[in-house]
Amino acid sequence: MKTDVVVVGAGPAECAAAYDLASRGVHVLLLDRTEFPRKKVCAGGLTVKARRALPYSIEPVVQRTVRSLAVSCRLRRQRVLPGKDPICYMVDRPAFDLFCLQQTITAGAVFKVVERIDSIVESRGGVRMITDRGSICCRYLIGADGVHSRVRLLTGRFEAIRFGFGVEGIVAGLPGNDPGMGFDFDRVGGGYGWAFSKKDHINVGLYTLRSQTLIRHQDLADYVFRRLGGATPGQVSGYRLGIGGWRYRPGQGRVLLAGDAAGLVDPLLGEGLYHAIVSGRKAARAVVDAMDTGCDACRSYETALTPIRRELLFAMITAAVFYRLPDLGFALLTSPAARIPLMGGFARGMPLLALVLNAYRFWLGRI
Ligand SMILES: Cc1cc2nc3c(=O)[nH]c(=O)nc-3n(C[C@H](O)[C@H](O)[C@H](O)COP(=O)(O)OP(=O)(O)OC[C@H]3O[C@@H](n4cnc5c(N)ncnc54)[C@H](O)[C@@H]3O)c2cc1C
Repeated sequence: MKTDVVVVGAGPAECAAAYDLASRGVHVLLLDRTEFPRKKVCAGGLTVKARRALPYSIEPVVQRTVRSLAVSCRLRRQRVLPGKDPICYMVDRPAFDLFCLQQTITAGAVFKVVERIDSIVESRGGVRMITDRGSICCRYLIGADGVHSRVRLLTGRFEAIRFGFGVEGIVAGLPGNDPGMGFDFDRVGGGYGWAFSKKDHINVGLYTLRSQTLIRHQDLADYVFRRLGGATPGQVSGYRLGIGGWRYRPGQGRVLLAGDAAGLVDPLLGEGLYHAIVSGRKAARAVVDAMDTGCDACRSYETALTPIRRELLFAMITAAVFYRLPDLGFALLTSPAARIPLMGGFARGMPLLALVLNAYRFWLGRI
C-alpha cells in the first residue's frame, strides 16, 4: 500500500496532524493498534488553551465546564481559587478521542487498525513500514503513538525521553461536597493528587513527574478515602507520561514524533493534551511545507517546536522548585498577587511562561 503520509496512533496528537493534512488534500493513512472507542488512562481535563488549539468545536463531548480550582497542600489548608470564566473543560477520554477520530475521518483521512509494526526503514525517497497487515510505503511518517511509541523505538529517535507516572480511578456518583476540579499538592513526591468531577462520577488520581517515585493502588485508595470522605476508587489503572521533550530534536529526514511519543507532557501538572494537539498540527504543517517546497520536514519541525521546548524547560525548572519547596510554592500560588492573574491567565488560555509573566506584570502594576 502507498500513501503520502502515515500517522501512527489515532489519539489527540495524531488526529490533529491527520485532520490538518487531510483538510489540505494530502492522502493520509491513520493507523492505530485498536478500534475506537478504546480506554485511555487520563483524567480528561482539557484546558482552555488545548480546546482553542483544536481545529473544530468539541461542544458535544464536554461534560462539565470548570471556573474555579480547589487546592491544598498535603490535604491541609484547603483553598478555593475562584474565577469568573472557564479555565478547563472535563471530557471522558474514550468519547473525546472517538469524536476527534470521527472529525478526522470526515476531513478525509483513512483509518486502519494494525496490531503490529515490525520494522520501519527510512530512505531518501520515503519510508517503508512492515506491519501485520503488510507493507506500507509513504513519503512521511508521523509517530504519535503515545508514551511507549513503537515508531520512536524502531527508528531510534529521541532515546533521552523520561517518564512521569499517573494512577487514576473512578468514584461513582457526585457527593454533596462536589470537589469540582481539585489539586492536592505534595500528596506524592514530585506531584499531586487530583479529584475532577465529571457528569456522573469523579475521576481521582495521583501524579508524579519522578520516575523513581512508586505509586501503589493503595496510595490512591488512601488519598481518595481522605479526600472524598471515605469513598473507594474503582477501575484503578496506571500509565506513564512522556516527559523531557525540551531535549527532543527531530534532526533530519522523514520521521517526526509528536505528543507523548516526543515527551511533550508538561512536567509541572502532567498536562499532555495541549502539546499533543499543537505538536501534531506543527508536524502536519512541516510535512506540507516539505511536500510543497522540498525543504527538510524534520528541520522545519524542529524550528516550529522551539516555543514548546522552551515552555517545557521552564515548566521543568518550575516543577523542580515547586515540588522541592511545596509549602512555599503553595503559599505563592494561593497569594492574591499570584491567584488573580493566574486564574485570569488560565481563562485566556495562556501557557505557563506567559502566565508567570502575567502574574509578574500584575504584581508590578500594584506597587
Ligand atoms: C493518569 C493520567 C492522567 C492524565 N490526565 C490528563 C489531563 O487531565 N489533561 C491532560 O491534558 N493530559 C493528561 N494526561 C496526559 C495525556 O493523557 C497524554 O499526554 C495524551 O493522551 C497524549 O496524547 P498522544 O496523542 O500523544 O498519545 P495517546 O493519547 O496515548 O494516543 C496514542 C495512540 O497510539 C496508539 N498506539 C500505541 N502504540 C501503537 C502502535 N504500536 N501501533 C499503532 N497505534 C499505537 C494508542 O492505541 C493510542 O490510540 C494524563 C495522563 C495520565 C497517564
